[in-house]
Amino acid sequence: MSSCCSDDNCRVEAESASEFCPSCGSKGTSVDLITLKALLTADGLRRGVPPAPRLCATADCPVVYFDNAVPIVFREYELTVPVHAKHLDDVLVPVCYCFGYTPRKIREEGEIASKTITAEVKAGHCACEVKNPKGVCCLGDVAKVERRLGAELVAATR
Ligand SMILES: [Zn+2]
Repeated sequence: MSSCCSDDNCRVEAESASEFCPSCGSKGTSVDLITLKALLTADGLRRGVPPAPRLCATADCPVVYFDNAVPIVFREYELTVPVHAKHLDDVLVPVCYCFGYTPRKIREEGEIASKTITAEVKAGHCACEVKNPKGVCCLGDVAKVERRLGAELVAATR
C-alpha cells in the first residue's frame, strides 16, 4: 500500500468505501461487466449494467452484485443461474458452471472431478467470465467443496 493522503476528499478513501456491500457490509470483489451481461435476466438487464460492479459472496446476504457509485444492487432472482456462494450447502447448485459440476457430482466422481476440471481449465476450455457468477475460475471453490465433502465422508464412515 502506498501512503494515503490525509485529505478528506482523498480518492483512495472514496474508492475503498465503495468496495463494501450496502446490505451486509462485507468487502465485494470486482467483477467484469461481461459477467453481468451474460448472467442477468431480462429484467436485470433493463435496470442497466453498472460501470464498476462488485460481487458480494456472503452466504446469507441477498445481494449478488452492487455498484455503490450508481447506486444499484442485483439480487439472486435477477440472475439466470443460482449462485454457489449463496447456497454452499445445496448439492444441486453448480460449483463449476463451465462443466456443470455440482457438489453432488463432485461427490459421485470423487477426486476425478477436480482432475477433469483442472484439465479442462488448462486446455483453455472454460468460460468462467460468462458462466460463473463470480466471473473467475471455480477451482478454488471446487477444492473447498472437496475438502468439505472429504470431511463428511470420513465422518460418515466412523
Ligand atoms: Zn452482501
